[in-house]
Order: sequence, then C-alpha cells, then structure tokens
Amino acid sequence: MEVFKFGGASVKDAEAVKNVAHILHAAPAADRVVVISAMGKTTNMLEEVLRDWFDGRGHAAALQRVGTYHRNIIDEVFTSGTPQGFAFDNLWSELASRLDRAPGEDFDFEYDQVVSYGELFSTAIVAAYLESEGFKSEWVDVRNIIRTDSAYRKARVDWARTRKNGEVLKGYLADEDCEVVVTQGFIAKGNLGNTTTLGREGSDFSASILAHITDAQTVTIWKDVRGMQNADPSWFNNTVRLPQISYREAIELSYYGASVIHPKTIQPLQDKGIDLHVKSFLEPEEAGTIIQANAERDHLIPSYIFKPEQILVSVSRRDLAFVGEQQLSGIFATLDTIGLNINMMQLSALNFSFVMDNDTRRLERLRSMLSEHYQVRYNEGMTLLTVRHYDQPTLAGLVAGNEVLLEQKTRSTIRLVMRPKTGDA
Ligand code: ASP
Ligand code: MG
Repeated sequence: MEVFKFGGASVKDAEAVKNVAHILHAAPAADRVVVISAMGKTTNMLEEVLRDWFDGRGHAAALQRVGTYHRNIIDEVFTSGTPQGFAFDNLWSELASRLDRAPGEDFDFEYDQVVSYGELFSTAIVAAYLESEGFKSEWVDVRNIIRTDSAYRKARVDWARTRKNGEVLKGYLADEDCEVVVTQGFIAKGNLGNTTTLGREGSDFSASILAHITDAQTVTIWKDVRGMQNADPSWFNNTVRLPQISYREAIELSYYGASVIHPKTIQPLQDKGIDLHVKSFLEPEEAGTIIQANAERDHLIPSYIFKPEQILVSVSRRDLAFVGEQQLSGIFATLDTIGLNINMMQLSALNFSFVMDNDTRRLERLRSMLSEHYQVRYNEGMTLLTVRHYDQPTLAGLVAGNEVLLEQKTRSTIRLVMRPKTGDA
C-alpha cells in the first residue's frame, strides 16, 4: 500500500486533474490512498469569502469566484456530462446554506467550517474523474479517519483515536472493488464533532498521518519541482537536487526555512520507517528526492537556506546589569504571550539578541511590554542565511558585499545574519 499526495498546483486546472490519472496509470500499484489539497489557490479564495462573510461585507462575489473556478474545471473534465452521484452540487449547496446564516463569534471555528470545502470540492471532482477513467475508486471523508482536538485552524492530532481508524481505511482497500481511496488533505474532525484543519499547507502532514496509521510502504508527494533542491532557485543559480537525505536532515532543512515539505510530515513516517518520495508531477519519470533513515549522504551536498526581510533585535537592561536566567525567563514568557517566533538567538553579557520575521506589530508590542526594565533596539532589512554542510569557497561568495552582524557555527551548520554593505565603509 502506498500514499500519494497531490497539492493545489497539481490539481489547479482540468489539464492537471487529467495528469493525476496519468500518473496513477503510469505507476500501477495494488492499493493506494490518494490525498488531495484544494485546487490551485482555492484556500486563499475561500479565506476571502470567509472574511467578507464574517465582516458582513457581502460574500456573494467572492463565493461566485470559487464556484466559477470549479465549474469551469468540471465542464472541461467531464465533456459528456458529470457522472451519476457526482457530489459537487450537494457540497456546494451545503456551503451556500452555511453562509446564508449569520457567522458565530469564533472566527477560527468558522474558518475551519468554511475553508474545508476546498478539499471537499477537489476530492469530489478528482474521485469522479478517476471513476470515469475506469479506476476502482472510493471517495472517503477523511474527517471520519483523522481525529483531533478542537483547536480550530491548528488542530492537534488525537493519535489514539486516529490510529484506530487505520483499520477503517484498510477496510476500504481490502475490498476488491476498491484500488484507490481518494481523500482530503488539511481537514479533520475535532472532539466536538466539528470540522478542524491542521494549519495552512497541512496536506503533506495528512498524507503522513494516513501512511502511519495504515503502515504504508511509501508516501509520494507530487510537486511542481523535481524533488528537494539544495537551495531556492530564486536565490541561487546552480541548484542541485538532493537525491537522498535522512529524516533528520529533512527536519533540519524545513526548520531553517526550506519550504518543500511541511515540517510536521517527517515524524509519523520516521516512527515507522516509511520512505518519503518528493517528485515532480510534470516529469514523473524523474527520480526526485527520497527521504529515509539513512544519513550517509547528508553531508555530500551543501544546502543553502535564505530568509530575507529579517529583523535583528537586541534587548538590554536599562540599568546595564547582566541579562541572566531570571531575566531571560521573563523575556521568553513575554515572547510566548505575544506569539513572536525567534529564528535565531544569541546571549552576551549585556544583550539578548534574536532574529525574527518582519512583523513590526509584534515587535512594537514586545517593546512596550518590556519597556520598564529593558531597552529594545533593532535593525531591519537583514537576511538570515543558513548553510548545512558548508564549504568555505561557496560561503565566501555568498557573503561577499555583505556586512555580517551575527554568526553561529557548528560542525554541520553555519548561520549568518547579514545585510548589503553600504558605501565604502
Ligand atoms: N489547501 C490547504 C492550503 O492551501 C492545505 C494544503 O494545500 O496543504 O493551505
Ligand atoms: Mg498546497
């Protein structure tokens, strides 16, 4: 049994939907779970619908954009009419009647109830298309499989309940009349019975949860890139593909900001030793990247991760005393209250310094909350460069023309906070 995950870009139009069938044909397998995201930018479009509805601005126009987008794909995919029992229209009416009511108070709750339709629509369309192409497929509502708490928009998996449902999923595939289960990424069901979501871009994680609970052999994430590259091509000219890396390396890379797979994806796979393939849906014959336990090749290719538009913040005491453990624990509690994430940090006698994403609203809150005892200064326009398995010559080239304000080095990783040099200083 294997799990395939198709993201938004891989089902963004009729052509792409047909390509899903092509990929499934080209690599036949006995049993498969296919996890699908919302089509193209549907999640963003539904977020607009939600905001208009929630703010009482009238959501008809935004909703119509979602409808037109899907109906165009449906018309192009099913040229001789939609198949019997096609679920899209029912799902559409469900969403429309939900939006006919007034929204409740809890934005995050309403978000999950509305935005989840993106994945319901996409899977209804793809499942029907696969059926019409002769696949023995079954549409499964993943909310009956993946169970969570009720933290809307960032739901945490209830592993005990979810694991039990592995048998339910295997049950579908055990049936001779079912070789492909088509189900949703991103969405789940909370402990109060309502729809929840796992956080934006969470479909990779869904695929890995389903693989874990069914003891799948492999998971393949189909993307518009040829696997994981050693840098983002928009930053770096000569990127190379990482043919094979370890689970740990994949976690490190996504932690530092490599955005190919969702960071939560790895752990459920690592627990069971399930291989993760990252492949291109445009060039399915190409090898892509394999992520598995073996770490022998991790050091062979250096990886470069750039985080632009960072702010370097420095916190010091007004009385020029040391910043000690007691002060740090107060500062961290404040960061946690504000929800301010740190990308890198350093401690010296008089300063606690850290690097954060460009979020001046949170930074101003920090300043005012700490103002009694601390001075908070900052520099904007920084780039945070992380290099795994660095080599000196390439590093020198990347740093040239920049002023480095902070540097941290271990045997495998170097991290630099820098900005372009100005003038001839
Ligand atoms: N559709 C969701 C999003 O766009 C989940 C995903 O694509 O992984 O964030
Ligand atoms: Mg996506």
